[in-house]
Amino acid sequence: MKVGTDIKYAASLIKKGKIVAMPTETVYGLAANALNAMAVARIFEMKERPTFDPLIVHISSIEQLETLFRKPISPYVYTLAEAFWPGPLTIVSTKTPEVPDLVTSGLSTVGVRMPSHPVAHQLIKQSEVPLAAPSANKFGRISPTMVSHVLKQNFKAEYILDGGISDYGIESTVVSVQENGIKILRQGAITEDDLVKYVEVLSSTDENEEVEKHAPGMLKSHYSPHKPLYIYNNENYNSFLPGTGFIIKENKDIGLPPGIKTIALSENGNMAEMAVKLFSAMHTMEDDENIKQIYIEAVPEEGIGKAIMDRVKKAAYNYMKS
Ligand code: AMP
Ligand code: MG
Repeated sequence: MKVGTDIKYAASLIKKGKIVAMPTETVYGLAANALNAMAVARIFEMKERPTFDPLIVHISSIEQLETLFRKPISPYVYTLAEAFWPGPLTIVSTKTPEVPDLVTSGLSTVGVRMPSHPVAHQLIKQSEVPLAAPSANKFGRISPTMVSHVLKQNFKAEYILDGGISDYGIESTVVSVQENGIKILRQGAITEDDLVKYVEVLSSTDENEEVEKHAPGMLKSHYSPHKPLYIYNNENYNSFLPGTGFIIKENKDIGLPPGIKTIALSENGNMAEMAVKLFSAMHTMEDDENIKQIYIEAVPEEGIGKAIMDRVKKAAYNYMKS
């Protein structure tokens, strides 16, 4: 896969129906023309993503939104767009017929986001179409927050645009627009406390709803390294097996025995910093041949900590100790 910073070239590839990996402020995405079903099909193929998992469509202007969401568009959409776009919020609402069914996995709704990353913004603008872009990792695996994480996947994407390290490091908050408020479908950097300042947030407990069943951001296992990952549960450090890697919340001496590799998610417990480094720490542990199993410290489930723990629990799900 070629890596570079040539946005014009990347846009020309998109126009030809090709796939480009692009940086965004959340994580790196595999982007294609959202209105070209063949191009979108190649994304699913590359990611080995099941077609029941809908893609988020990325836009660079509100005019594009109006081609994707069916009219009349709920005033909540505009309120949220005004407050949080460009930024890490995906809004799900009823789609127009122009949006291919493959993008939405056959749902009548589509998830749309306006990214703030300048490279993503320019790519969408110069491509002159909305871009469908899931995270640039194989399905179920750790999301990429820098180019080296994307390269690891060995995709046959035509080009990777290098835009540095993602600012947030975890995927967008996903909300669906309802008659009398919104529901949070996936936790992210924009928290419920942020959202309630603008719209009523309804509880999201009805498991039978179509959107929720189809929101695999809600799958129990996801974002997972291919080594056992356990949430640290106050085990005695001396019981750690040889080859343990320990992802800790902050950079302080916790009296570990020698031989345990640690990665601190933050210097002093700043949660935004932890989110940025989370997937990166998992990648580093996954890539280190000497590491056989990984422990990770839980963070408080407050603010962005909710989104962090959502990812951590899903990453650890297959390795849960009974
Ligand atoms: P990503 O994994 O970042 O590509 O984001 C895709 C996720 O966004 C899906 O797994 C769903 O959780 C959510 N999503 C996208 N479109 C929809 C939709 N139409 N309805 C419900 N959730 C959606
Ligand atoms: Mg993903």
